Amino acid sequence: MKAQRLKKPKPAEDRPLDLEEIPVPEPSAGQVRIRIRACGVCRTDLHLVEGEIATPKLPITPGHQIVGVIDKLGDGVTAWKLGERVGVPWLGGTCGDCFYCRRNQENLCESATFTGQHVDGGFAEYAVVRSDFAHRLPEGFDDLYAAPLLCAGVIGYRALKLANVPQGGKVGLIGFGASAHITLQVARFQGAEVFVFSRSAEHQEHARRLGAAWAGSVESKPPTELDSIVIFAPAGWTVINALKVLRKGGTVSCAGIYMSPIPQLDYPLIYHERKLVSTANSTRADVRELLDIAARIPIQPDIELFPLAEANDALQRIKTGSLTGAAVLDIQGRGQESC
Ligand SMILES: [Zn+2]
Ligand SMILES: [Zn+2]
Repeated sequence: MKAQRLKKPKPAEDRPLDLEEIPVPEPSAGQVRIRIRACGVCRTDLHLVEGEIATPKLPITPGHQIVGVIDKLGDGVTAWKLGERVGVPWLGGTCGDCFYCRRNQENLCESATFTGQHVDGGFAEYAVVRSDFAHRLPEGFDDLYAAPLLCAGVIGYRALKLANVPQGGKVGLIGFGASAHITLQVARFQGAEVFVFSRSAEHQEHARRLGAAWAGSVESKPPTELDSIVIFAPAGWTVINALKVLRKGGTVSCAGIYMSPIPQLDYPLIYHERKLVSTANSTRADVRELLDIAARIPIQPDIELFPLAEANDALQRIKTGSLTGAAVLDIQGRGQESC
């Protein structure tokens, strides 16, 4: 099968992934094999190929927003049938037994395995995954549109939950790309007013089209104080800007797995019970909840398709911020028919 392999992390512009022919993997007990139709490309993949996030396995196939159909069952798998369509997110396995797993916080599991970091992911024609970490996808979603829900959608959803937006409240989103444009639709569905901060005029316009009450640059002041803010930009300095426009008692929630250093914080910025939290991974319940909401809205992700052979180009486009939606690898080339 064809797979995009990372042997040694390097900058995206140096094309860190190599398209190779490798054996189709066999599922072990408890695993299923998926014939992949689409895989989303996420900023985390960029951090991984560039070495900001370490991987214990090299070479590795990145990719953790996998959509495909089950084509082989490992021993002992009874919950799935051949031909069923599934999605596979970043959380690929947990121990089920540590302090966090026992407290309903499996996203913080001490020995979690992450798809495309510890085990081979979806920038390939096939992948094997733990059968209990695969998810059924809502009927209405095309494969290519379902892919970005699995990380961009789910992480934004968890970060939004942690931001504790009051009923009918005002929420800010800082940075507007693959994740934020889905989170905006979830926040509006839940009754919030959404304020978007982005350096890109094109992204601000995109946000207004999706129903943002206001959109402006990251340095600009919104017309009102905000109850909650979710930061998607990997830039630590935006935390200071966020706290300056947050009302007393409000929450700033950082959605990213990586952020540049946060500058020195003067105590008045966080005084009056303002809270600053981070988001780490997501639970299987988060995935189920987001997929359910996605089907009810229904969420319309903006996607940009790339063939598997152009995974390096997709990563470079994420790096330069020049995508207006979510990058998706069209593994079976289906999108070519309609695009
Ligand atoms: Zn655990
Ligand atoms: Zn991701």
